[in-house]
Amino acid sequence: MTELKEILAEKFGFSSFRKGQEEIIQKILNKENVLGIMPTGGGKSICYQLPALLFDGLTLVISPLISLMKDQVDSLNDMGIPATFINSSLSYPEINKRLSAAKNSEVKLLYVAPERLESEDFLRLLEEVNIDLLAVDEAHCISQWGHDFRPSYLKLAEMIQSFAQAPTVVALTATATQQVAQDISHLLEIPNDNQINTGFARENLAFQVVKDQKDSYLFAYLKMNKNQSGIIYATTRKEVERLYRLLQHNDFSVGKYHGGMDRQERAQSQEDFLFERVQVMVATNAFGMGINKSNVRFVIHAQIPGNIESYYQEAGRAGRDGLPSDAILLYAPQDLQIQHFFIEQSNLTKDYQQNEYEKLREMNQYAHTQMCLQCYILRYFGENGQACGKCSNCLDEREAVDITLDTQKVLSCVKRMNERFGKTLVAQVLTGSKTQQIKNWQLEQLSTYGLMKNWTQKEVTALIDYLTAEQYLTLAKGEFPKLMVSSEGVEVLLGKQKVYRKQASVKQLADDDELFEKLRELRLELAQEQHMPPYIIFSDKTLQELAQKKPSTPVELLQIKGVGQNKLDKYGERFLTLLNEEQ
Ligand code: ADP
Repeated sequence: MTELKEILAEKFGFSSFRKGQEEIIQKILNKENVLGIMPTGGGKSICYQLPALLFDGLTLVISPLISLMKDQVDSLNDMGIPATFINSSLSYPEINKRLSAAKNSEVKLLYVAPERLESEDFLRLLEEVNIDLLAVDEAHCISQWGHDFRPSYLKLAEMIQSFAQAPTVVALTATATQQVAQDISHLLEIPNDNQINTGFARENLAFQVVKDQKDSYLFAYLKMNKNQSGIIYATTRKEVERLYRLLQHNDFSVGKYHGGMDRQERAQSQEDFLFERVQVMVATNAFGMGINKSNVRFVIHAQIPGNIESYYQEAGRAGRDGLPSDAILLYAPQDLQIQHFFIEQSNLTKDYQQNEYEKLREMNQYAHTQMCLQCYILRYFGENGQACGKCSNCLDEREAVDITLDTQKVLSCVKRMNERFGKTLVAQVLTGSKTQQIKNWQLEQLSTYGLMKNWTQKEVTALIDYLTAEQYLTLAKGEFPKLMVSSEGVEVLLGKQKVYRKQASVKQLADDDELFEKLRELRLELAQEQHMPPYIIFSDKTLQELAQKKPSTPVELLQIKGVGQNKLDKYGERFLTLLNEEQ
């Protein structure tokens, strides 16, 4: 094993490098400036965290958001790597204390926000610190052609010049058009050959565009994925409030986040989401820049965003742990007006405004294109890709099928059950299940009993949700909503109307697994004890591997991805006790 791999295993608990990581790290260790373009969740952090351990001096990390910094630092400390951050929330003495720690080599990594670089005092203090590596996270913020330009990033170029001995620079981003990549390289003096682009494709994301019935789709989807964590983005605060109330009223576990809430409310809301006290966050794009939560299973845009870069970045917050996740755009033409309005009202120069309109046009086309949605996005960033096979366009051909017959089976079963029952029981009757309730009501006598035996109950429930969303079925109000066949449904039963299912169906992301749930509970317990978000302790992926492989000894536990020596020492015993009880 090479030295780098040993450190990767020992400190981070991973057995191999991901695409691009080793190459970037090698360049850094050769003291070459390098730009890494890797998709969200691609593993950019390790590219500077690992070299930081090998340098004598400090690694200074420029990171745009306070919450992200704290998260990263907690996560590093939890792995036994000394790191700290400095931001405006700290008192002056505390800042000095942390700087001294950096100066005395007590920490390996120091995270700061770019705004810090505008303080002359701070820069002077930094001059006394031996900085070996400068890591610039979200490096696209340095470019005025990017969608997220931050003037203080320009200070970086100046700062690099001001050091007696220039540190090695690693710039990292997940979103850069060619123009933006050029800009970054130019400003941070990165040679053209040192651009390492692993591609933008997010193989674990299934992109979907849904054009009708936005609210019903949202409901059906959230019901189907009740235990999963997700973000719903809306453009305006008003829409965030509307969706939040709607979902809360329907008993979903939901929080909200937008710029109109005060600081404390926002912090509380964000924490509730990170600590999994709420499952779903409804938010404007003010939420998420700093969200490092790796087990976000879906990102739904309830309104179209202004450009592909923002969309991809926001959608990309789903599935950072590499597990299958959904990125869904709910499209309605009137939502474009809001974006037009934003551009009109902005005080950008004509050129930039034109640039923004063009970006919006490309975003709008995304909702209308027939090509693979992942490919469309890749093409926008100047890359070619192969059809992903799982976005709503790739699935469209396969799934644009006539489902009249299956629909008739469902509707006729609802009729035969006298429209007195909810969807669970209807699905149980159709799949021929043998529950007590079915016996009590003598439902196995019905001619529709077991009519869809070769379907799972979940699949039938999904179909019922779809037929409800499409209004072939309606739900009577009440505590236990009963299914009824609508007048349109009657037309289908009479064979006068056909039903097609064009959209990718509402699907369940993962099967419920009892052991996984128990592991998750234990993680939550530990998180509460340690005052840390659960995903910092172990990612969902690690829990999944634990549930599958059921390690029973510390040595076996170390083989699991995401378990390094430090995690083993801290959490090993508790997890092994649980796993051994379940053997
Ligand atoms: P990015 O900053 O590129 O969005 P992160 O650095 O946060 O991504 O990494 C995303 C996830 O991938 C994290 O949970 C991280 O622990 C995991 N990861 C990173 N490198 C590896 C690796 N070599 N093997 C397995 N998992 C990895």
